[in-house]
Formats: sequence, C-alpha cells, structure tokens
Amino acid sequence: MNSLAPHLKAKALKPNSRRPAKELCSECGLCDTYYIHYVKEACAFIHQQIADLEAAAHGKSRDLNQENDLYFGVHQEMMAAKKKQAIPGAQWTGIVSTIACEMLDRGLVEGVVCVQNTAEDRFQPQPILARTTEEILAAKVNKPTLSPNLSVLEEIEKSGMKRLLVIGVGCQIQALRAVEKKLGLEKLYVLGTPCVDNVTRSGLQKFLETTSRSPETVVHYEFMQDFRVHFKHEDGSMEMVPFFGLKTNKLKDVFAPSCMTCFDYVNSLADLVVGYMGAPFGWQWIVVRNDTGKEMLELVKDQLNTQDVMSSGDRKQAVQNSIPAYDKGVTLPMWAAKMMGVVIEKIGPKGLEYARFSIDSHFTRNYLYVKRNYPEKLAAHVPEYAKKIVEKYKLPD
Ligand code: FAD
Ligand code: SF4
Repeated sequence: MNSLAPHLKAKALKPNSRRPAKELCSECGLCDTYYIHYVKEACAFIHQQIADLEAAAHGKSRDLNQENDLYFGVHQEMMAAKKKQAIPGAQWTGIVSTIACEMLDRGLVEGVVCVQNTAEDRFQPQPILARTTEEILAAKVNKPTLSPNLSVLEEIEKSGMKRLLVIGVGCQIQALRAVEKKLGLEKLYVLGTPCVDNVTRSGLQKFLETTSRSPETVVHYEFMQDFRVHFKHEDGSMEMVPFFGLKTNKLKDVFAPSCMTCFDYVNSLADLVVGYMGAPFGWQWIVVRNDTGKEMLELVKDQLNTQDVMSSGDRKQAVQNSIPAYDKGVTLPMWAAKMMGVVIEKIGPKGLEYARFSIDSHFTRNYLYVKRNYPEKLAAHVPEYAKKIVEKYKLPD
C-alpha cells in the first residue's frame, strides 16, 4: 500500500536551495526527504496546527482554562528528576539517552532518530538513525544549533523498520506528527526536549565569541535557572555569565528567525518531554503527556531520583520589565548585571514559576517580532494559548 504513496514520487530539495518556509525555515530536515511532498501541511512555520495535532497525539488539546495546561501543554504528570548515576558528558544527567538505550535494549523499538556531531566540529549536527546503544550514547549532549533531524526519514521507510523512537525539538516534532501516518510504522514513540533561541552554526560562533572568555574550548552551555549562562570548558572549568549582562544589542539578530517566531517552547506534541526549566536548580524537569510517555518513563524510573515539581515567586513584573529592555537592546554593565542576578536568584521565580517566566518573556518577544515582521501571519501562526499568555502584558507597538 505504501508503495503507492504519493510522496514516493517527490524529490528532496538540494542542500543549499531555498526552503518553502524561506527565511523562517528551521532546517528541520523534512525538505531533505521526499516527504517534502507534504510540506505545506506539515511545516511548523507554514501551517501552525498545534491544537489539532495535540488532539491526534494525546486524545485532547490543552485546556486553556487550566493554568498548567495553558503553559506546559497536555500532560498527565510532571516531576523533577535526576539520574542516580549521571552519564558523563550528557547535557544534564542523561535521562534522554538512558530512555533511548533502554527502549532499544528491550526491543520496544528497532531504531532511534537522534543527532550526533560531525568528526570535525562538536557543534555541527549530524542526524542519524541509531541501531545500537553506542550510537545513541554518541549523540548525547545538545548540539545547540538548528539540526535537520528529519533528514533521516527516507532511510526509515527504506529500512522497513516498524517501531521507532524519535528524539527532537518542537519544530521537528510538529512536522513529524503531521506526516506520522505516512511513515508506514506500527508504533512511533516521541521523546522531546524544550527548545528556545536556537541558532545556525555561524550564529552560534557569534554568540560564543560575544559572550564567552574562551569560545573555542566551550563543550556545552545552558541558560540556567539561576539567570546565568553556564559554559563548560574542555578542562572541566565552568564560566558563568549573567543573562542581564549579555550584549543584547549585538545578539539581537543572532537567533534564527524560525526561533523568533516559535511558540512551541515546551514541545507540545512529544509523548514525553525532558528539560530542566520547570525544576529546581540542578534537577531535570519531566512532562508525561500521554500513556506512551508514561510507558517510556517507567523503563528508567528505578534509575532516577524524583521529587514533586514546586513553584515559588512571582514572575510578572520581571517579564514586564524584560519587554522594553529586550526591545531596546539594553545591556547592563557587568557589575550591575551580576548584582541583579544575585538579587533575582534570591527572590526571583523558581520551579514552574521560572518556566512561566521564561515562556512569558519569549512569547511576548516573539509575538512582537511576528507582529512587526510578518503581520499577515499573526492571526493564524500564533496559537490560541500563546495569545492568551501574551494578553497578560502591556506590549509596545
Ligand atoms: P542527553 O542524554 O545529553 O541527550 C541529549 C539529546 O538531545 C540527544 O539524544 C540528541 O539526539 C538530542 N539533541 C541534541 N541536539 C539537538 C538538536 N539541536 N535538535 C534536536 N535534538 C537534539 N530545556 C529547557 O528546559 N529549557 C530550554 O530552554 C531548553 N533549550 C534547549 C535547546 C536545544 C537546542 C536543545 C537540544 C535542548 C534544550 N533543552 C531545554 C533541553 C535540555 O537542554 C536537555 O537537552 C534535556 O534536559 C535533556 O538532557 P539529558 O542530559 O537527559 O540529554
Ligand atoms: Fe521544510 Fe522543515 Fe524548513 Fe519547514 S522548517 S521549510 S518543513 S525544512
């Protein structure tokens, strides 16, 4: 039946050719395959359809009157967790890689879509269809750049695999869900991470050079819950730079236009999401969206310490203040940025409230960006939940 599928007649785009979403393309990889046939319906930046895809994936779309649904999407359960024994070199404690390895080891899936780096460059993504746990472990740690994870979709169909795990960020997963039924699979598992402010490889270089004391030795970094960017260097040393000291004027254009128009920070369509921003400092944050996600988490529960999610502080004033500061590209002197970071860390939002702080400040910024640059897209591209969140704040014109 699949051999008659219309996409088999389509042709992938050549690597450097312009994509249908033009400058908004996040290089999700779909157009590198014959599934480009479905791009008009599937691309997250051409056809926003999160509510419908939520209903298809989870049996319901989020309830806009429930605060936690509004912010974090459809879910059965949330928790903070860390591995009892962290995987050395993973982004956090390696929960994502561990789940993927267990699923392959126990035969739940025959392959895992994940992203390694190229031999020459630790930050240049190299998506793969992993068939061994060694290959999955070699994909640990974030490649903090746009990554064409879906470029391996043709390989899946050709391999005849019927049970698959895909690891990915929101825009990749939106396109994946839209073509899920065309992949000829018996079972698809989706393990997502939140994602925000991603960059092209050259954008990453600019960010590192503008922000770190030693850009060439950075092995990974994260925008942490203590309002600082934590850079880890090759020699194991850590470097912390307060958010408020970032050179916003120089970094304004560094984020990919796709990420400036994205409202799927929390990866609404994955079965299970593993991030950090809703958890206390040092812990990972897990969102179980449906029964499939629960099944995946159960496989590793005995390897985790867990605790309930918590929430404290009040983000609203900090978000409102962040809006004009970003808009005008204000950069504080480093001493003031450090002081502000210390104060905010002491009294500022924590746990789920920190996650709401981050969602609110990115959604308001992105809403303004779409309104100014793509006014014709505003009504259809911004999901209802994001409009409801943005309405809480006073925005400049
Ligand atoms: P690991 O076991 O180290 O595994 C990491 C997995 O990520 C690997 O399987 C790899 O295939 C996959 N991966 C790496 N790079 C990419 C990429 N570019 N695209 C798709 N998949 C990739 N969490 C938050 O709470 N808030 C955020 O703002 C946030 N931003 C993120 C931005 C990016 C670009 C990425 C990739 C992740 C982000 N996360 C964010 C998630 C968080 O940083 C960790 O990835 C997550 O907690 C899992 O950690 P781990 O130790 O379990 O992962
Ligand atoms: Fe194609 Fe993905 Fe780019 Fe959209 S974001 S144009 S689906 S590669």
